[in-house]
Amino acid sequence: MPPFAYFQKKFVPLAEAKISVMTHSLHYGTAVFEGIRGNWNSEQEQIYIFRLKEHYKRLEDGCRLLRIKLPHSIDELCRITVELVRKCSFREDIYIRPLAYKSSEALGVRLHDLEDDFLVFAIPWGRYLDMDACRCGISSWRRPADNVIPPSAKITGLYVNNAFTKTEAMDKGFDEGIMLSPAGYVSEGSGENIFLVIDGKLVTPPVNNSILVGITRDTVIKLAKNELGIETIERPIDLAELYTADECFLTGTAAHVTPIAEIENRKIGNGKVGEVAGSLQKLYFEVIKGDNPRYIGWCTPAYEK
Ligand code: PMP
Repeated sequence: MPPFAYFQKKFVPLAEAKISVMTHSLHYGTAVFEGIRGNWNSEQEQIYIFRLKEHYKRLEDGCRLLRIKLPHSIDELCRITVELVRKCSFREDIYIRPLAYKSSEALGVRLHDLEDDFLVFAIPWGRYLDMDACRCGISSWRRPADNVIPPSAKITGLYVNNAFTKTEAMDKGFDEGIMLSPAGYVSEGSGENIFLVIDGKLVTPPVNNSILVGITRDTVIKLAKNELGIETIERPIDLAELYTADECFLTGTAAHVTPIAEIENRKIGNGKVGEVAGSLQKLYFEVIKGDNPRYIGWCTPAYEK
């Protein structure tokens, strides 16, 4: 079965979904994207799409910022996405990439007087940070302030900042880079939110700290509270707190829950997967695969049974 894309209001083979070299968003980064996972459950022969509606709500908020008119409601976007996955007949973990973009073939830096469009495609995609516990560096690139480019939206142009960070980290032999906010507080990874475990509580940067408000972040906060009785404190975090935390871990749709073993070659805790991170990771995998009935409402089945 060839992969399909939903492009210009219809399903087409992915290879045929092409845009012009003059497309506005290609030149100026005027697009908003999402990253959504579909998780393969082999016993049930089902793909569960995780928190689909919440991803499209965030996309819609980003579109409002960029003055992009979405051609579909959130419910329609959800239906289109389920149909896309069904058409592709995947039997493995997948990653779904919606993109709302300024589609005019026009030059000139602006947001106004331009046509918009929406596309979505899906590809097989396994683990992103492919290790038990990752090694991070502190990025020399800071996250921008909300009045530079709002990091609360997945604006394509903004992700140059993330790309600088990721490549710098890899060049230095790390797996991921952690960025600081304009004021110098710990902000987030290039594609993940960050959590610390301090005195048995979770601590994570607040929403107004130049972070993307992650859906995995929200999932982990809820699972920690409901299932482990662990409270989360959202407050500014100093750099030095990273090095003295009992545990650190990253969360994201691509990265799931990934424990951090080291930051700038300093061991975090005992340098191994921490107890809290390990428990949350186990719970999280159960939930996203549709194996925990309490959270099945977060999982949209792609295939009809
Ligand atoms: N921060 C950034 C910069 C990201 O790109 C992502 C990935 N979307 C996240 C955090 C995590 O967000 P989510 O859990 O919604 O995937």
